[in-house]
Amino acid sequence: MIRLESATLLTPERQIPAGVLVLDGARIAYAGPAADAPPTAPYDEVLSLPGRVIIPGFVNTHTHLAMQLLRGCADDVPLMPWLEEHVWPIEARMTAEDILQGTRLALLEAVAAGVTCVNDMYGSMDRVAEAIGEAGIRGMITQGLIGVQDPERESLRRGVALYERWQGTFNGRLRVALGPHAPYTCPPDYLREVADYATALHAPVHIHLAETRGETEELLRQGTTPSEVLTRSGLTREHVVAAHAVFPAEGDIERLAGLDVGVAHCPVSNLKLGCGFAPTRRLREAGVPVGIGSDGAASANVLDPFLSMKAAAWIAKGTAEDAAALTAPDVLRMATREGALALGWPELGALEPGYLADVVVVDLRGYAVQPVFDPFSALVYTATAQQVERVYASGRLVYQEGRHLLVDAGEVLASGRAAAARIAGQPLL
Ligand SMILES: [Zn+2]
Repeated sequence: MIRLESATLLTPERQIPAGVLVLDGARIAYAGPAADAPPTAPYDEVLSLPGRVIIPGFVNTHTHLAMQLLRGCADDVPLMPWLEEHVWPIEARMTAEDILQGTRLALLEAVAAGVTCVNDMYGSMDRVAEAIGEAGIRGMITQGLIGVQDPERESLRRGVALYERWQGTFNGRLRVALGPHAPYTCPPDYLREVADYATALHAPVHIHLAETRGETEELLRQGTTPSEVLTRSGLTREHVVAAHAVFPAEGDIERLAGLDVGVAHCPVSNLKLGCGFAPTRRLREAGVPVGIGSDGAASANVLDPFLSMKAAAWIAKGTAEDAAALTAPDVLRMATREGALALGWPELGALEPGYLADVVVVDLRGYAVQPVFDPFSALVYTATAQQVERVYASGRLVYQEGRHLLVDAGEVLASGRAAAARIAGQPLL
Protein backbone atom coordinates (compact mmCIF):
# COMPACT_ATOMS: atom_id res chain seq x y z
CA MET A 1 0.00 0.00 0.00
CA ILE A 2 1.08 3.54 -0.76
CA ARG A 3 0.20 6.44 1.55
CA LEU A 4 0.30 9.97 0.13
CA GLU A 5 -0.10 12.56 2.89
CA SER A 6 -0.01 16.30 3.63
CA ALA A 7 -1.37 17.16 0.18
CA THR A 8 -4.73 18.80 -0.57
CA LEU A 9 -7.14 16.21 -1.95
CA LEU A 10 -9.15 17.99 -4.58
CA THR A 11 -12.32 16.85 -6.29
CA PRO A 12 -15.15 19.06 -7.56
CA GLU A 13 -17.24 18.12 -4.54
CA ARG A 14 -14.69 18.67 -1.79
CA GLN A 15 -11.22 19.77 -0.85
CA ILE A 16 -9.37 18.22 2.05
CA PRO A 17 -6.29 20.17 3.17
CA ALA A 18 -3.43 18.02 4.52
CA GLY A 19 -5.41 14.94 3.52
CA VAL A 20 -4.35 11.33 3.19
CA LEU A 21 -4.78 9.10 0.16
CA VAL A 22 -4.06 5.39 0.44
CA LEU A 23 -3.63 3.29 -2.69
CA ASP A 24 -4.02 -0.45 -2.28
CA GLY A 25 -3.03 -2.09 -5.54
CA ALA A 26 -5.23 -0.85 -8.35
CA ARG A 27 -7.84 0.68 -6.01
CA ILE A 28 -8.13 3.59 -3.62
CA ALA A 29 -8.38 2.31 -0.05
CA TYR A 30 -8.81 5.62 1.77
CA ALA A 31 -9.20 9.28 0.87
CA GLY A 32 -9.90 11.79 3.60
CA PRO A 33 -8.68 13.74 6.60
CA ALA A 34 -5.45 12.60 8.26
CA ALA A 35 -7.24 12.18 11.59
CA ASP A 36 -9.44 9.39 10.22
CA ALA A 37 -6.78 7.65 8.12
CA PRO A 38 -5.85 4.05 8.94
CA PRO A 39 -2.82 4.66 11.20
CA THR A 40 -0.90 1.43 11.37
CA ALA A 41 -1.31 -0.14 7.97
CA PRO A 42 1.82 -1.83 6.66
CA TYR A 43 2.61 0.79 4.03
CA ASP A 44 5.18 0.01 1.37
CA GLU A 45 5.75 3.71 0.89
CA VAL A 46 4.75 6.90 2.70
CA LEU A 47 5.18 10.20 0.88
CA SER A 48 4.68 13.65 2.37
CA LEU A 49 3.53 16.09 -0.33
CA PRO A 50 2.86 19.55 1.14
CA GLY A 51 2.04 22.27 -1.40
CA ARG A 52 0.62 19.74 -3.84
CA VAL A 53 -2.92 18.87 -4.79
CA ILE A 54 -3.98 15.34 -5.63
CA ILE A 55 -6.75 14.98 -8.19
CA PRO A 56 -8.27 12.05 -10.08
CA GLY A 57 -6.41 11.34 -13.33
CA PHE A 58 -7.63 13.23 -16.38
CA VAL A 59 -9.92 11.36 -18.78
CA ASN A 60 -9.36 12.34 -22.43
CA THR A 61 -12.78 11.45 -23.83
CA HIS A 62 -11.94 11.78 -27.53
CA THR A 63 -8.64 11.53 -29.32
CA HIS A 64 -6.72 10.00 -32.20
CA LEU A 65 -3.34 9.46 -30.57
CA ALA A 66 -1.46 8.33 -33.69
CA MET A 67 -2.24 11.69 -35.30
CA GLN A 68 0.61 12.99 -33.14
CA LEU A 69 2.70 12.26 -36.25
CA LEU A 70 0.63 14.84 -38.16
CA ARG A 71 0.95 17.60 -35.58
CA GLY A 72 1.32 20.88 -37.46
CA CYS A 73 1.12 19.24 -40.91
CA ALA A 74 -1.67 21.64 -41.95
CA ASP A 75 -2.94 24.46 -39.78
CA ASP A 76 -5.30 27.31 -40.57
CA VAL A 77 -7.39 25.17 -42.96
CA PRO A 78 -11.15 24.42 -42.54
CA LEU A 79 -12.23 20.90 -41.57
CA MET A 80 -13.17 19.32 -44.91
CA PRO A 81 -10.20 20.53 -47.01
CA TRP A 82 -8.00 19.89 -43.98
CA LEU A 83 -9.14 16.25 -44.01
CA GLU A 84 -9.34 15.71 -47.77
CA GLU A 85 -6.28 17.60 -48.99
CA HIS A 86 -3.88 17.25 -46.08
CA VAL A 87 -4.68 14.65 -43.44
CA TRP A 88 -6.06 11.75 -45.47
CA PRO A 89 -3.22 11.77 -48.09
CA ILE A 90 -0.59 11.59 -45.34
CA GLU A 91 -2.57 8.99 -43.40
CA ALA A 92 -2.69 6.84 -46.54
CA ARG A 93 1.09 6.45 -46.21
CA MET A 94 0.95 5.38 -42.56
CA THR A 95 1.75 1.77 -41.74
CA ALA A 96 0.75 -0.11 -38.60
CA GLU A 97 4.27 0.49 -37.32
CA ASP A 98 3.86 4.25 -37.83
CA ILE A 99 0.59 4.13 -35.90
CA LEU A 100 2.34 2.32 -33.05
CA GLN A 101 5.10 4.93 -32.93
CA GLY A 102 2.70 7.86 -33.23
CA THR A 103 0.57 6.50 -30.40
CA ARG A 104 3.60 5.93 -28.18
CA LEU A 105 4.77 9.49 -28.89
CA ALA A 106 1.35 10.90 -28.01
CA LEU A 107 1.20 8.90 -24.81
CA LEU A 108 4.44 10.51 -23.61
CA GLU A 109 2.77 13.91 -23.82
CA ALA A 110 -0.57 12.73 -22.42
CA VAL A 111 0.82 10.84 -19.43
CA ALA A 112 3.17 13.70 -18.51
CA ALA A 113 0.10 15.97 -18.49
CA GLY A 114 -1.76 13.72 -16.04
CA VAL A 115 -3.97 11.83 -18.48
CA THR A 116 -4.69 8.34 -17.13
CA CYS A 117 -7.48 7.31 -19.51
CA VAL A 118 -7.88 7.89 -23.25
CA ASN A 119 -10.76 7.21 -25.62
CA ASP A 120 -9.01 6.59 -28.93
CA MET A 121 -10.39 6.07 -32.43
CA TYR A 122 -8.08 5.18 -35.31
CA GLY A 123 -6.88 2.25 -37.46
CA SER A 124 -4.38 -0.57 -36.77
CA MET A 125 -5.80 -0.60 -33.28
CA ASP A 126 -3.91 -3.73 -32.22
CA ARG A 127 -0.80 -1.53 -32.21
CA VAL A 128 -2.66 1.17 -30.25
CA ALA A 129 -3.71 -1.44 -27.70
CA GLU A 130 -0.08 -2.48 -27.27
CA ALA A 131 1.01 1.13 -26.80
CA ILE A 132 -1.63 1.83 -24.14
CA GLY A 133 -0.73 -1.42 -22.40
CA GLU A 134 2.93 -0.41 -22.39
CA ALA A 135 2.19 3.10 -21.05
CA GLY A 136 0.43 1.63 -18.01
CA ILE A 137 -2.67 3.81 -18.30
CA ARG A 138 -6.25 2.99 -19.22
CA GLY A 139 -8.01 3.27 -22.54
CA MET A 140 -11.10 2.63 -24.56
CA ILE A 141 -10.10 1.90 -28.14
CA THR A 142 -12.13 1.93 -31.32
CA GLN A 143 -11.47 0.91 -34.89
CA GLY A 144 -12.67 3.90 -36.89
CA LEU A 145 -15.27 2.68 -39.41
CA ILE A 146 -15.78 4.62 -42.63
CA GLY A 147 -18.99 3.03 -43.90
CA VAL A 148 -18.76 4.51 -47.40
CA GLN A 149 -15.37 2.80 -47.84
CA ASP A 150 -16.42 -0.52 -46.32
CA PRO A 151 -18.68 -2.27 -48.87
CA GLU A 152 -17.43 -5.73 -47.88
CA ARG A 153 -17.68 -4.88 -44.15
CA GLU A 154 -14.01 -5.75 -43.70
CA SER A 155 -13.41 -2.79 -41.33
CA LEU A 156 -16.53 -3.64 -39.38
CA ARG A 157 -15.30 -7.20 -38.91
CA ARG A 158 -11.92 -5.83 -37.79
CA GLY A 159 -13.69 -3.62 -35.25
CA VAL A 160 -15.59 -6.61 -33.89
CA ALA A 161 -12.41 -8.74 -33.79
CA LEU A 162 -10.71 -5.94 -31.89
CA TYR A 163 -13.39 -6.20 -29.24
CA GLU A 164 -13.05 -9.95 -28.99
CA ARG A 165 -9.24 -9.74 -28.73
CA TRP A 166 -8.71 -6.83 -26.35
CA GLN A 167 -11.82 -6.15 -24.25
CA GLY A 168 -10.86 -6.33 -20.57
CA THR A 169 -7.18 -7.07 -21.20
CA PHE A 170 -4.24 -5.58 -19.23
CA ASN A 171 -6.13 -6.35 -16.00
CA GLY A 172 -9.16 -4.46 -17.22
CA ARG A 173 -7.21 -1.37 -18.26
CA LEU A 174 -8.33 -1.75 -21.86
CA ARG A 175 -11.89 -1.54 -23.14
CA VAL A 176 -13.15 -1.61 -26.69
CA ALA A 177 -15.98 0.30 -28.36
CA LEU A 178 -17.38 0.10 -31.88
CA GLY A 179 -16.60 3.24 -33.82
CA PRO A 180 -18.70 4.35 -36.78
CA HIS A 181 -16.71 7.46 -37.74
CA ALA A 182 -19.62 9.86 -38.32
CA PRO A 183 -23.10 10.05 -39.88
CA TYR A 184 -21.63 11.68 -43.01
CA THR A 185 -19.23 8.76 -43.58
CA CYS A 186 -21.58 5.97 -42.47
CA PRO A 187 -24.97 5.57 -44.23
CA PRO A 188 -28.04 4.52 -42.18
CA ASP A 189 -27.92 0.83 -43.17
CA TYR A 190 -24.26 0.66 -42.15
CA LEU A 191 -25.04 2.28 -38.79
CA ARG A 192 -27.80 -0.29 -38.22
CA GLU A 193 -25.31 -3.11 -38.81
CA VAL A 194 -22.86 -1.53 -36.36
CA ALA A 195 -25.68 -1.19 -33.84
CA ASP A 196 -26.58 -4.87 -34.20
CA TYR A 197 -22.98 -5.89 -33.45
CA ALA A 198 -22.79 -3.43 -30.52
CA THR A 199 -25.96 -4.91 -29.05
CA ALA A 200 -24.77 -8.49 -29.52
CA LEU A 201 -21.40 -7.73 -27.89
CA HIS A 202 -22.85 -5.31 -25.35
CA ALA A 203 -20.14 -2.91 -26.56
CA PRO A 204 -20.25 0.88 -26.26
CA VAL A 205 -20.23 3.07 -29.36
CA HIS A 206 -17.89 5.98 -30.15
CA ILE A 207 -18.93 8.35 -32.95
CA HIS A 208 -18.25 11.90 -34.19
CA LEU A 209 -21.56 13.77 -34.07
CA ALA A 210 -22.65 17.24 -35.17
CA GLU A 211 -19.09 18.52 -35.45
CA THR A 212 -19.92 21.17 -38.07
CA ARG A 213 -22.91 23.32 -38.98
CA GLY A 214 -22.93 21.83 -42.49
CA GLU A 215 -23.15 18.29 -41.14
CA THR A 216 -26.26 19.07 -39.08
CA GLU A 217 -27.85 21.04 -41.95
CA GLU A 218 -27.35 18.04 -44.26
CA LEU A 219 -29.04 15.72 -41.75
CA LEU A 220 -31.96 18.16 -41.46
CA ARG A 221 -32.29 18.14 -45.26
CA GLN A 222 -32.51 14.34 -45.04
CA GLY A 223 -35.33 14.67 -42.53
CA THR A 224 -33.36 13.64 -39.48
CA THR A 225 -31.20 15.16 -36.73
CA PRO A 226 -27.93 14.13 -35.06
CA SER A 227 -29.67 12.50 -32.08
CA GLU A 228 -32.21 10.78 -34.34
CA VAL A 229 -29.36 9.22 -36.30
CA LEU A 230 -28.32 7.54 -33.07
CA THR A 231 -31.79 6.39 -32.06
CA ARG A 232 -33.10 5.34 -35.50
CA SER A 233 -30.03 3.20 -36.15
CA GLY A 234 -30.30 1.49 -32.77
CA LEU A 235 -26.86 2.67 -31.65
CA THR A 236 -28.34 3.99 -28.40
CA ARG A 237 -29.28 0.49 -27.28
CA GLU A 238 -25.74 0.64 -25.83
CA HIS A 239 -23.79 3.48 -24.26
CA VAL A 240 -22.74 6.07 -26.84
CA VAL A 241 -19.85 8.54 -26.67
CA ALA A 242 -20.66 11.39 -29.05
CA ALA A 243 -17.63 13.48 -29.92
CA HIS A 244 -18.12 17.24 -30.40
CA ALA A 245 -21.93 17.80 -30.42
CA VAL A 246 -21.25 21.36 -31.55
CA PHE A 247 -24.47 21.77 -33.54
CA PRO A 248 -27.33 19.81 -31.97
CA ALA A 249 -30.61 20.42 -33.82
CA GLU A 250 -33.87 21.50 -32.22
CA GLY A 251 -34.87 18.89 -29.64
CA ASP A 252 -31.54 17.02 -29.78
CA ILE A 253 -30.33 18.06 -26.34
CA GLU A 254 -33.54 16.92 -24.65
CA ARG A 255 -33.44 13.63 -26.59
CA LEU A 256 -29.76 13.02 -25.72
CA ALA A 257 -30.54 13.64 -22.04
CA GLY A 258 -33.06 10.79 -22.11
CA LEU A 259 -30.54 8.37 -23.60
CA ASP A 260 -27.37 6.66 -22.38
CA VAL A 261 -25.14 9.14 -24.22
CA GLY A 262 -22.09 11.08 -23.07
CA VAL A 263 -20.57 13.98 -24.97
CA ALA A 264 -16.85 14.51 -25.56
CA HIS A 265 -16.32 18.27 -25.69
CA CYS A 266 -13.16 19.10 -27.67
CA PRO A 267 -12.88 22.87 -27.31
CA VAL A 268 -9.35 23.36 -28.63
CA SER A 269 -9.89 21.29 -31.77
CA ASN A 270 -13.31 22.87 -32.46
CA LEU A 271 -11.94 26.40 -32.13
CA LYS A 272 -8.80 25.69 -34.12
CA LEU A 273 -10.75 24.21 -37.05
CA GLY A 274 -13.20 27.10 -36.90
CA CYS A 275 -16.10 24.72 -36.26
CA GLY A 276 -17.70 26.58 -33.37
CA PHE A 277 -18.21 25.23 -29.88
CA ALA A 278 -20.54 22.85 -28.10
CA PRO A 279 -23.40 24.21 -25.95
CA THR A 280 -21.91 22.62 -22.85
CA ARG A 281 -24.06 24.55 -20.40
CA ARG A 282 -27.34 23.49 -22.02
CA LEU A 283 -26.14 19.90 -22.39
CA ARG A 284 -25.07 19.66 -18.75
CA GLU A 285 -28.18 21.41 -17.44
CA ALA A 286 -30.27 18.88 -19.37
CA GLY A 287 -28.33 16.09 -17.64
CA VAL A 288 -25.99 14.92 -20.40
CA PRO A 289 -22.53 14.04 -19.01
CA VAL A 290 -19.97 16.17 -20.82
CA GLY A 291 -16.32 15.15 -20.66
CA ILE A 292 -13.34 16.91 -22.18
CA GLY A 293 -11.31 15.60 -25.08
CA SER A 294 -8.30 16.85 -26.98
CA ASP A 295 -9.13 15.31 -30.37
CA GLY A 296 -5.99 14.46 -32.36
CA ALA A 297 -2.85 16.59 -32.26
CA ALA A 298 -3.24 17.26 -35.99
CA SER A 299 -6.12 19.60 -35.14
CA ALA A 300 -5.58 20.47 -31.47
CA ASN A 301 -1.74 20.50 -31.62
CA VAL A 302 -1.52 19.71 -27.91
CA LEU A 303 -3.00 16.99 -25.71
CA ASP A 304 -2.64 19.04 -22.50
CA PRO A 305 -5.91 18.74 -20.51
CA PHE A 306 -5.04 21.92 -18.62
CA LEU A 307 -5.32 23.85 -21.88
CA SER A 308 -8.60 22.11 -22.74
CA MET A 309 -9.99 22.98 -19.31
CA LYS A 310 -9.13 26.64 -19.80
CA ALA A 311 -10.62 26.68 -23.28
CA ALA A 312 -13.82 24.99 -22.05
CA ALA A 313 -14.20 27.59 -19.31
CA TRP A 314 -13.42 30.57 -21.55
CA ILE A 315 -15.87 29.48 -24.25
CA ALA A 316 -18.70 28.90 -21.79
CA LYS A 317 -18.12 32.24 -20.06
CA GLY A 318 -17.57 34.20 -23.26
CA THR A 319 -20.58 32.88 -25.13
CA ALA A 320 -22.92 33.24 -22.14
CA GLU A 321 -21.47 36.66 -21.29
CA ASP A 322 -21.46 35.30 -17.76
CA ALA A 323 -18.26 34.67 -15.78
CA ALA A 324 -20.13 32.13 -13.65
CA ALA A 325 -21.32 30.06 -16.63
CA LEU A 326 -18.79 27.30 -15.98
CA THR A 327 -16.85 27.39 -12.72
CA ALA A 328 -13.42 25.93 -11.99
CA PRO A 329 -14.86 22.98 -10.01
CA ASP A 330 -17.32 22.37 -12.90
CA VAL A 331 -14.47 22.21 -15.40
CA LEU A 332 -12.38 19.94 -13.18
CA ARG A 333 -15.41 17.65 -12.92
CA MET A 334 -15.77 17.54 -16.71
CA ALA A 335 -12.07 16.68 -17.12
CA THR A 336 -12.24 13.85 -14.55
CA ARG A 337 -15.43 12.36 -13.08
CA GLU A 338 -17.86 13.54 -15.74
CA GLY A 339 -15.45 12.36 -18.45
CA ALA A 340 -15.50 8.91 -16.86
CA LEU A 341 -19.31 8.95 -16.89
CA ALA A 342 -19.32 10.18 -20.49
CA LEU A 343 -17.29 7.07 -21.37
CA GLY A 344 -19.54 4.81 -19.30
CA TRP A 345 -16.69 3.93 -16.94
CA PRO A 346 -18.12 4.75 -13.51
CA GLU A 347 -15.30 3.34 -11.32
CA LEU A 348 -13.06 6.13 -12.57
CA GLY A 349 -12.57 9.77 -11.79
CA ALA A 350 -13.13 10.04 -8.04
CA LEU A 351 -11.02 10.06 -4.90
CA GLU A 352 -13.11 7.62 -2.91
CA PRO A 353 -12.48 4.14 -1.46
CA GLY A 354 -13.09 1.44 -4.04
CA TYR A 355 -12.49 3.66 -7.06
CA LEU A 356 -9.64 2.90 -9.42
CA ALA A 357 -6.30 4.30 -8.26
CA ASP A 358 -5.64 6.67 -11.17
CA VAL A 359 -4.45 9.85 -9.49
CA VAL A 360 -2.25 12.83 -10.29
CA VAL A 361 -0.09 14.90 -7.97
CA VAL A 362 0.15 18.52 -9.09
CA ASP A 363 2.79 20.82 -7.59
CA LEU A 364 1.40 24.30 -6.92
CA ARG A 365 4.50 25.65 -5.14
CA GLY A 366 6.29 27.27 -8.10
CA TYR A 367 6.38 30.89 -9.28
CA ALA A 368 4.26 30.07 -12.32
CA VAL A 369 1.36 29.31 -9.98
CA GLN A 370 1.92 31.11 -6.67
CA PRO A 371 0.20 32.60 -4.78
CA VAL A 372 -2.71 30.19 -4.40
CA PHE A 373 -5.88 31.70 -2.97
CA ASP A 374 -7.99 28.78 -4.14
CA PRO A 375 -6.66 25.41 -5.35
CA PHE A 376 -9.49 25.02 -7.92
CA SER A 377 -8.55 28.36 -9.46
CA ALA A 378 -4.84 27.52 -9.45
CA LEU A 379 -5.42 24.12 -10.99
CA VAL A 380 -7.86 25.12 -13.74
CA TYR A 381 -6.98 28.71 -14.63
CA THR A 382 -3.24 28.88 -13.87
CA ALA A 383 -1.53 25.49 -13.90
CA THR A 384 -0.32 23.72 -17.03
CA ALA A 385 1.06 20.24 -17.63
CA GLN A 386 4.37 21.63 -16.32
CA GLN A 387 3.02 21.38 -12.79
CA VAL A 388 2.26 17.66 -12.98
CA GLU A 389 4.67 15.97 -10.59
CA ARG A 390 3.53 12.36 -10.29
CA VAL A 391 1.04 10.20 -12.15
CA TYR A 392 -0.32 6.93 -10.76
CA ALA A 393 -2.34 4.62 -12.99
CA SER A 394 -3.94 1.51 -11.49
CA GLY A 395 -1.95 2.34 -8.35
CA ARG A 396 1.34 2.21 -10.19
CA LEU A 397 3.68 5.19 -10.53
CA VAL A 398 4.07 5.74 -14.29
CA TYR A 399 5.51 9.27 -14.35
CA GLN A 400 7.54 11.27 -11.87
CA GLU A 401 9.12 14.72 -12.21
CA GLY A 402 9.84 14.64 -15.92
CA ARG A 403 10.63 10.93 -16.12
CA HIS A 404 8.50 8.25 -17.72
CA LEU A 405 9.03 5.14 -15.62
CA LEU A 406 7.61 2.44 -17.91
CA VAL A 407 8.93 3.51 -21.30
CA ASP A 408 12.22 4.80 -22.69
CA ALA A 409 11.10 8.32 -23.67
CA GLY A 410 14.24 9.01 -25.71
CA GLU A 411 13.70 5.92 -27.83
CA VAL A 412 9.98 6.68 -28.30
CA LEU A 413 10.73 10.26 -29.33
CA ALA A 414 13.37 9.19 -31.87
CA SER A 415 11.09 6.51 -33.34
CA GLY A 416 8.17 8.93 -33.54
CA ARG A 417 10.21 11.63 -35.28
CA ALA A 418 11.54 9.13 -37.80
CA ALA A 419 8.03 7.86 -38.56
CA ALA A 420 6.71 11.42 -38.99
CA ALA A 421 9.51 12.34 -41.41
CA ARG A 422 8.87 9.23 -43.46
CA ILE A 423 5.10 9.74 -43.88
CA ALA A 424 5.58 13.47 -44.45
CA GLY A 425 7.97 12.66 -47.30
CA GLN A 426 10.11 15.60 -46.38
CA PRO A 427 12.74 16.43 -43.77
CA LEU A 428 11.22 17.85 -40.59
CA LEU A 429 12.82 20.16 -38.08
ZN1 LIG B 1 -12.07 13.20 -33.76
